[in-house]
Amino acid sequence: MPENSISQVRRGAWCLAIGLLLTGPAALANGNYTHGWVAIDAVRQLPSGDLHTLLNRVDLMPILRNGAMFPDGGYAVNDEYGETSHWEPFHLAYADWIRATFQPPWTDDAARHIAFLMGMSAHGMSDQLYDGMFLPRHRFYDVNGDDAAPYGVDGATDTCFAAIKGTIEPPEPWVPAEELAPLYEPLLGHPVDAETIRLGQGLVTFAIVHANTEASDPTIVAGYLQTFPWACGHQDDPDAPGSPPTHGRAVAAYWKVLWARLHGDTAFDKPLLGTFFTGGAPWSYPLDSSNPDSWVSFAMPRGLAPSTLLPTNIVVTRDGEDTVPIPVNISVHYGLHSHLVNVQPKQDWVQDASYTITISPPLDSWDGMPMQRTYVFGFSTLPQPAGWGDEISTADGPPDEAAEASEEIANPADASGDEGFPADAFEAVSDTGGLADLSGESAAESTDDSVRADTGESAADSAETSGGKGGGGCSMLPDAGSAVPGALLPCLLLLLAAARRVRRRCQLDS
Ligand SMILES: [Zn+2]
Repeated sequence: MPENSISQVRRGAWCLAIGLLLTGPAALANGNYTHGWVAIDAVRQLPSGDLHTLLNRVDLMPILRNGAMFPDGGYAVNDEYGETSHWEPFHLAYADWIRATFQPPWTDDAARHIAFLMGMSAHGMSDQLYDGMFLPRHRFYDVNGDDAAPYGVDGATDTCFAAIKGTIEPPEPWVPAEELAPLYEPLLGHPVDAETIRLGQGLVTFAIVHANTEASDPTIVAGYLQTFPWACGHQDDPDAPGSPPTHGRAVAAYWKVLWARLHGDTAFDKPLLGTFFTGGAPWSYPLDSSNPDSWVSFAMPRGLAPSTLLPTNIVVTRDGEDTVPIPVNISVHYGLHSHLVNVQPKQDWVQDASYTITISPPLDSWDGMPMQRTYVFGFSTLPQPAGWGDEISTADGPPDEAAEASEEIANPADASGDEGFPADAFEAVSDTGGLADLSGESAAESTDDSVRADTGESAADSAETSGGKGGGGCSMLPDAGSAVPGALLPCLLLLLAAARRVRRRCQLDS
């Protein structure tokens, strides 16, 4: 950060933030370049309709991107609001507040909150998918552990992804801190200070600056690829379950659940958010039960109450055989109020066999809402038939008619699975009016100085325009959040990366 930018920093706020970082386990999670990319990709995955139209608005895209970073800001200021913001109880509380405060047709104030909510929920869903499917494969295939790079595997893969997709300038920080702050009290038992939220939002931006900066250095990228050949090598692989390109469709489907909630529909009857298959298709399934590639995964439309899970709720049977369930371990990856379920075989799948997974009631969401439908889909160890996938079923996808979709998702030949995403998804979206001007110069062209200079300008612009866009009590951040003394950045990111790993272990231990 150039010296003249340091003068823009509110030193008092920084002392507070760094002090908190040094005294607590919290950390700014890396991966926020990826979070922004996924949110944008999820807009592309939405079917045309009111929500698609809303999230494509030019004025709302920076707000969506701010929401996509928002949860990790809490780690940066060592406040529980960060963790809480990752999960459905808070997403629904925010959605219900929006519904109680505004009514369709949505005003601009309401639309800003909706965009922020959607970004925030995209972040939470992405973390579940990545941690629950992608990272177990990384730990299987990569010799080096999560901590083998300075900012962990999260930071390394974020940089690798930025190097592939091109740098994206951080959005001007924006957060509806005054409105969000009181919503935490019922969940945390204590209020959160709006200024703390604003500070966190300013700090989290620097994960993107960091990814941009590292992505512009081929030596750093090559080093990460050497340290984590599988994780960095598959970060952009749509056939690797849990990789960022597999998130957008599930996020878009979850947005439809939240959109229904905003319109008063609270039923636990929406389609699965997604099914995830090794190799991107439910065919030629890996047999080896000791390898996480043998797992079959799906994401539920509501966060679950695992205590209501019975052996009969999620059953795997072999087609053509009797209906005796195949022994599997059912793992609701993050436990209470999480969505991702991994079906882990206890013995190898059989060669040239097809299987059906049935998810049936009674099963409750974390808040006691009973699941009202049965979901069925299949997979096979047989080779993929010629022509399969030419027509993609939308039975479990996010279209408007999803709520009316058939109760059953057909077996492999019709299962929508994860058909993959065009490699140029981000670029394609960027070509649309609402998402234009998000991408900065390419990684190959940018330099450390240019990235930093851009950020400094952005901070100044943010301060200049802070009075004009907030509305309804929403507030732009002060410039303090957008200018970090360069010497403090590595320390900040290091602590943030460590905190995310602590969070992950705590979640899995609980
Ligand atoms: Zn996170």
